[in-house]
Amino acid sequence: MSLLLIKNGTVVNANDKFEADVLLEDDKIIRIEKSIVLSEVSVKVIDAMGKYIIPGGIDPHVHLDLPTPAGNSSDDFYSGSRAALAGGTTTIIDFVTPSHGESLIKALHKRKEVAATSCIDYALHVGICWWDASLAAEIEYCIKHKGITSFKTYLAYKGSIGITYDELYDVMKVVARFNATVTVHCEDGDKVAANQQQFFREGKTSVRFHALSRPAEVEADAVEKVLQMAAATECKVYLVHISAAKSMDIIHRYNNKKLRVETCPHYLVLNEKVYDSDNFETAKYVMSPPLRSEKDNEVLWQQLAANHIDTVATDHCPFNLIGQKDAGRHNFIRIPNGAGSIEYRTSLLFTYGVLSGKISLCQWVALTSGNAAGIFGISNTKGSIEVGKDADIVIWNPDKEKVISIENQFQHCDSNIYEGFQLKGLPETVIFKGKIDFVYD
Ligand SMILES: [Zn+2]
Repeated sequence: MSLLLIKNGTVVNANDKFEADVLLEDDKIIRIEKSIVLSEVSVKVIDAMGKYIIPGGIDPHVHLDLPTPAGNSSDDFYSGSRAALAGGTTTIIDFVTPSHGESLIKALHKRKEVAATSCIDYALHVGICWWDASLAAEIEYCIKHKGITSFKTYLAYKGSIGITYDELYDVMKVVARFNATVTVHCEDGDKVAANQQQFFREGKTSVRFHALSRPAEVEADAVEKVLQMAAATECKVYLVHISAAKSMDIIHRYNNKKLRVETCPHYLVLNEKVYDSDNFETAKYVMSPPLRSEKDNEVLWQQLAANHIDTVATDHCPFNLIGQKDAGRHNFIRIPNGAGSIEYRTSLLFTYGVLSGKISLCQWVALTSGNAAGIFGISNTKGSIEVGKDADIVIWNPDKEKVISIENQFQHCDSNIYEGFQLKGLPETVIFKGKIDFVYD
């Protein structure tokens, strides 16, 4: 038995904050009290005076070791999970992406083998990348026997993993029967393809046309159709990486109580001005949906503050500029989509959200762990500092500072979309399953 006592800190949960000592025994939290005094000599004590004690972060949207035509995303489960830990995240949810016609269960087992090198807890969303009637039984099996609570669908990427609206409707009908969740990448795939073709006919093939081919309407139109289907099927729906104010308008119009909404740090602190350059390095910002306007940033912050957005996930999916992104130097369609931020999510949201007065401390915890635990069915063990929960804990130093740089990052990538960003507030000690896994010096 090993005991770890965290003294004199301020516990922050999604709905409460109070001063207390927290005692961990092996991998569980066993006592939370004002002042815990132990006579055991074997207890290790950490003084957390002036620090916050928060639940280990849960990043519900990451793509580690994701196979693409440009090679796999540049973080595998080992390097990506180390970077997550360094940033105060102790649970990630990645994806199973079955190939066309492949059994979901088989694909799930294969993905677990790839994920086995993760240093932290992980769960998987199961992708539904085509549709036929045989999938209904597999979905049921995944839910009842494999602990899967969510299924990922893409309306973008037509011709590879994307599905049609009609197919999505069938998926929702089946998933609703078992009260699980369908997560949706909302970008109208046909409109994206039409825009891309148009630009190509006009000889517009450089990086900036990636963003121009995917304007906010392309997201908002898909959001509207998805919400119509969510209402008709009564399926629980989770919209990934919402980037645009226009989409939030539609979400308010439909007022669907079962709907859950995610955004990402890059849609809050970066904007489309970065594309206004002919330097190929801007390819590091090629992601889908693309970065939006400063006005969109502002609206998303307001929506976080008003609790209309439930989670901030990273969609972590980095690719190197040299050797991966440069596959699309003369053709933006070939640039692999994605960027990394698994290491910075909690700190970016603290620095630019909490310290600037946009969101409260409790909202910060709700957005980075508490809400995701509830939505994806792991709140019995994770997402709050409570007796009986997993001892996944971050001792947060609100005064510690650093500047983001490829020189000091744990993420594996030759570039960083937050290069030069100042952070104030960083994890000081990260405890995963009761073990001190990471200490900042
Ligand atoms: Zn994604």
